[in-house]
Amino acid sequence: MRCRSCRQPAVVDVPRHNAAFCGPCFERHCREQVNRAIDHFGMLRHSQPVLVAVSGGKDSLALWDILLELGYQADGLHLRLGIGDYSDASTEAARAYAARIGRSLREISLPDDLGFDIPTGAAASRRTPCSACGLSKRHLFNQAALDGGYPVIATGHNLDDEAAVLLGNVLRWDLAYLSRQRPVLPAADGFARKVKPLVRLGERETAAYCVLRGIDYVVEECPMAAGNRHLGYKDALNQLEARSPGSKAAFYFGFVDRAAPLLSGQLDDAAGELHPCPSCGSPTVSEICAFCRLAAQAVAAR
Ligand code: SF4
Repeated sequence: MRCRSCRQPAVVDVPRHNAAFCGPCFERHCREQVNRAIDHFGMLRHSQPVLVAVSGGKDSLALWDILLELGYQADGLHLRLGIGDYSDASTEAARAYAARIGRSLREISLPDDLGFDIPTGAAASRRTPCSACGLSKRHLFNQAALDGGYPVIATGHNLDDEAAVLLGNVLRWDLAYLSRQRPVLPAADGFARKVKPLVRLGERETAAYCVLRGIDYVVEECPMAAGNRHLGYKDALNQLEARSPGSKAAFYFGFVDRAAPLLSGQLDDAAGELHPCPSCGSPTVSEICAFCRLAAQAVAAR
């Protein structure tokens, strides 16, 4: 197997591109894929700082590394979730990478700063752990971006993640979620722009990128993920991809290019009148925003 670019021995194959790469050419390939996503979807500007949500896993660390390599002013934000050893290992990986590159890593700790952890928040609010976690991340990342003067937040969602979420939304024909499933969510009053620059890379590629770059990431899976429906969707899509390389990208980008524009009105239809949450000031359609409700329930349950 030879590198498609330089004909040296290849170390990584990418079946959906019918290609294999040596280490340096693969790193360049990953950066090119991210650059193409950024350009195509108008995600970032070099003149604007970007806040990268850094979990300590392969995707977020690869994203931070690639954005810096591409010359973006990228700082990290890490949220400690209070999920036992998994959170400790995640924080350690995020801190180690930040120290290695000498960039700022802002940290927010759910247990220390807000008085609850994800398992408690999930139980108290009767949400699944991933629902409580996702809500907390969206709220706190947005708040941190606004407070820190970052107009845009970048997350490490990759092609596998986005295709799995899309499959779940299609299986339920959840038009409200489908209308929001885009690689860029524009800024609005009280909301920073959200971008997903890794949508052209699969998780196998981000893992290989980290190994080649010598980036230590937390390998263990979050224990809360067990039984998560998205893992089943990922397995189903991986089987399709193995039989027909490129299926995942065709499914996701076909949706983004051809179906998502037809659904954009659904976002406005689904949204109610926004007003500031009396507790935190974030825009909400409810009396109190969903995150403040969850936090209050979790703290009360301690
Ligand atoms: Fe959060 Fe669920 Fe991911 Fe764990 S698996 S980090 S609970 S979203």
